Amino acid sequence: MSRLMVGVSGVRGIVGETLTADVAEQFGRAFAVMLPKGATIALGRDTRPSGPMIRDAVIAGLNAGGVDVVDLGIVSTPGVAMMIKHLSASGGIVITASHNPSPYNGIKFMTPDGLNLPADQAEQLKNIWKIGEFTTSEKPGTITQNGQTHNIHIETVCGIIDADAIASRKFKVVLDSINGAGCVGTPLLLNKLGCELVHINSEPTGDFAHKPEPIAENLAGLCKAVREHQADVGFAQDPDADRLVIVDENGEFIGEEYTLALAAAFVLKQQKGDLATNLSTSRMMDDVAASAGVKLHRTPVGEANVASAMKQYNCVFGGEGNGGVIDPRVVLVRDSFTGIALMLNYLAETGKAVSELVANLPKYEMHKAKFPCPQAAAEKILSAVREAFAGRTDAKINDADGLRVDLPEGWLHVRASNTEPIMRIITEARDADAAGKIAGEVRKIAEEVLHHRTDDG
Ligand code: MG
Repeated sequence: MSRLMVGVSGVRGIVGETLTADVAEQFGRAFAVMLPKGATIALGRDTRPSGPMIRDAVIAGLNAGGVDVVDLGIVSTPGVAMMIKHLSASGGIVITASHNPSPYNGIKFMTPDGLNLPADQAEQLKNIWKIGEFTTSEKPGTITQNGQTHNIHIETVCGIIDADAIASRKFKVVLDSINGAGCVGTPLLLNKLGCELVHINSEPTGDFAHKPEPIAENLAGLCKAVREHQADVGFAQDPDADRLVIVDENGEFIGEEYTLALAAAFVLKQQKGDLATNLSTSRMMDDVAASAGVKLHRTPVGEANVASAMKQYNCVFGGEGNGGVIDPRVVLVRDSFTGIALMLNYLAETGKAVSELVANLPKYEMHKAKFPCPQAAAEKILSAVREAFAGRTDAKINDADGLRVDLPEGWLHVRASNTEPIMRIITEARDADAAGKIAGEVRKIAEEVLHHRTDDG
């Protein structure tokens, strides 16, 4: 049985095994302990069949602790963040397991700014839950319904782009919402932008039509539909509609790293300012920043880290290479609605096709691998890798999260997993061979350390 994951992005588990109604109610009660008296929480969920049960349990816990709940219904994760600000709520909750398969569900907690909980507050929540001494309010909280999320979200997104310019192009768009939370609001956005929509996997049933992670191997249906309908572009969302990936006009999946890079390139045409992304994201972001003469801030992996760097450095744009764009003019969380609008505006303004915009960016290949590594050996491996590259005067080293080494021919990022005894290596270079070669060097160093440890007994 997989265990209940309790981390910075909230709680996640298999429903009925590790994530039960009891656990959900306890987390509702624990979150209530952290909130001020008379607090209101904005709460939404994705389309998973277990959603209503988890929602009701969490709300029962919050209400028992005296917290009022505004139930937003089936909405995207960025939609909840949007409504926290709109309602001036004390925080938010999203019932979702994001890109995990249907048997999973999760509870994601947000701050009054609509951000994911920072690490110290996530730790505090976990401790309150572990100790399990919850206070019961004399006056239980209330529940109200609010169906305004999509309208407010779409209005805000349309405020950062030229909706008329997009509408005049009458784009044909294929959208794959994987029967998730994007099903309801996204067609409203595309309709407002004058697009002709072919919507596949468009029923908000939570019956995921393919594996939910928006990566190449899961998007054959979308690619085919783009070709069949001779569409201008294809978009795929994950079940909570925070991540977005793009298929070009030829039905080719362009790779998840391009969502952020293309959106960043467009935003920098609108306004100049710093960017932020994590250490595992493509060098395309460095190139986009350099060609606009702005700074790119690299952060540890994790959406909250990118968002807090964006706040700290007053960035105009940021996000993650997994298809997560963050535009602070909308919300400080990843938002597929924003990504769609920016991409369509980029197409409308340049008159170029998706493949042409892709061809304008430098081409790289990424190589991702992992290997088993006892936690005790992780530090040794990182220092050995560091030592191996430190001698090179052209190497730029960043150790904010594992180790990232930037070289003229490419880069590597090695880090230990927080949840499993493994290390991950991500490398990127001009071609697959070169990326593989850098990964091979790292692997060799790691093996020497691991082998040496065995010899030591
Ligand atoms: Mg997601």
